[in-house]
Amino acid sequence: MLRTTIEQLENAARILEPDSDLRGTLTTQVLNYANDFLNRIDTGKGYEKEDASSKLYDLPINESGYDMSTLLEMLSIAVDRPGINPASGGHTGYIPGGGIYPSALADYMADITNRYAGIYFANPGAVRMENMLLRWMADMIGYPQEAQGNLTSGGSIANLVAITTARDALQIKSAQIPHSVIYLTEQTHHCVQKAIRIAGMGECILRQIPLDAEYRMDVTRLHEQVRKDKAEGLRPAIVIASVGSTDTGAVDPVNDIADVCTSEGLWLQIDAAYGGFFQLVPELTHHFKGVEKSDSYILDPHKGLFLPYGTGAVLVKHGAHLHASHWYKAHYMQDAANQDEFSPADLSPELTKHFRGLRMWLPIQLFGLTPFRAALKEKWMLAQYFYEKIREAGFETGPQPQLSVVTYRHTDGIDDPNAFNQALIAAIHRDGRIFISSTLIYDQFWLRLAVLCFRTHLWHVDLLLEMLIAARNNLLEKKTH
Ligand SMILES: *Cc1c(COP(=O)(O)O)cnc(C)c1O
Repeated sequence: MLRTTIEQLENAARILEPDSDLRGTLTTQVLNYANDFLNRIDTGKGYEKEDASSKLYDLPINESGYDMSTLLEMLSIAVDRPGINPASGGHTGYIPGGGIYPSALADYMADITNRYAGIYFANPGAVRMENMLLRWMADMIGYPQEAQGNLTSGGSIANLVAITTARDALQIKSAQIPHSVIYLTEQTHHCVQKAIRIAGMGECILRQIPLDAEYRMDVTRLHEQVRKDKAEGLRPAIVIASVGSTDTGAVDPVNDIADVCTSEGLWLQIDAAYGGFFQLVPELTHHFKGVEKSDSYILDPHKGLFLPYGTGAVLVKHGAHLHASHWYKAHYMQDAANQDEFSPADLSPELTKHFRGLRMWLPIQLFGLTPFRAALKEKWMLAQYFYEKIREAGFETGPQPQLSVVTYRHTDGIDDPNAFNQALIAAIHRDGRIFISSTLIYDQFWLRLAVLCFRTHLWHVDLLLEMLIAARNNLLEKKTH
C-alpha cells in the first residue's frame, strides 16, 4: 500500500526529470529564442516606454502548467521588450551591464551540475576556481598574498561586506557608533549609505567632503576635517573613495587619500564597482595609483568585465579581518571543517550560493584577457569621442571623462536649462533607439552618457549624437515659434 502510493507519486513527479527527447525539444526552443534575441539586438531599441508587463497575470500559476512556446511568447512580450534593454549596445544610461555569451553557457552548466560553491569540502574545484579569480583581481590591484575576498551577487553586497569588515576590524561597538566618523562625498554611491545603515552604523557621523572642479574628493578638505574631528574628541574611522563614481565617472585621488588614511589611522574602502576593470587598460593605470594602499576594495564584474548581472567582488587586504567578521560554526557542518582553502561561507554572509565563479572563469579562460582590454579601451575612447563631438555641436560639457562617463547639457540661449534638458531627454526616451539617463549636480540637470556595454560601438555613439542634435534643434525651433 505504502509502496503503491510512493510509486504513484514518483509517476506524478516524473516530468521534473525530462527524458532526453523532451530535453532536446525544450533546449531547442530556448536556443531559438536566445538566437532570435541576439540576431535582433542591433536593430532593436535600447529603451521601450510601452509597458506590457502586466500581461504576466494572464498566465496564473496553476496545476498543469503551460507549453514552453506560450511561456517564451510571454517572456518576449512582458519581460524582454518593456523598459531598458541592458543587452543592447543602445543602453548608455546609468552604468550599463554586460551579458557575454560564454557566461550564459557557464550558467547553464553551473545549473545542470549544480556544484556547491559555498564550502571547500563540498566542492573543492568550485571554491578553488572562485579563489583563483579573487587572487587574479587581488594581484591586479596589488594586494598581498594574505588578501581574501568573495564573489558576491553585486556591488551593493560587496560594499556591505567591506563595511561590516571595517566595523569589526576597527572594533566599532555600539557605544562607539555615535562618535565614529565616516567620510565620503556627494558622489558616493547610495548603496554605501545603505550598507552603513544595514551594518548597524546608521548613527555614525557621516561627513560629505567637498568636491573639486572635477567632482573628486578634495583631499585637503578631507585632511582638515579629520584633524578637526579628532580635536573635537570624535573618532575618524572609515573613508570611502570612488574609483569611477556612478554619476560622473570621477576618480577620487586615491593615492593622496590613502596617505591621509595611513597617517591618521583610518580604514580606506575603495568602491571601484564601476571603474575597477579599467585598470586592465595600460593607458588608464595612472587612475589606480595607490589602490594597493586601501584596506578593502570592491569591483563589479557584471559591469566592467561584461558579465551578466549577478556578480560583484569584494577584496580585503588583511584577509583575517574578512574571516573574523564572517566565519561561523555549526554542528551540522562538522564534516566540512579543516580545509586547505578558505570557503566562501567563511568569508561572506552566504552559505549556499550560486556557482558564480564559472560564469567569470569560462569567458576569461576561453578568450584570454586581450579582448577584454581592447573592449574597455574602446569604451573609454568612445566617451572621449562623444565628449569632443557634443562640444562641437554647441552643448555644455562637464569635465573631460576620466573613464567612460560624459556629462553634458544644452544651455546656450536657454532661460531655464533644467526644463530644456528635461524636455530633451524625454524626446530621446520617446525615440528609444539609444537610452541615456540624467543626473542632478548641485541642482543642475545634466544628461549623461555612460559607455560600458560591450556591444556599444562607434555607430551607437554617432546615432546618439544625431538624435541629440536633432531633438535639441527641434526644441529650439518650437521655442522661437
Ligand atoms: C553599480 C555601483 C554600485 C552598486 O553595485 P550593484 O552591483 O548595482 O549592487 C556601487 N558603487 C558604484 C560606484 C557603482 O557604480
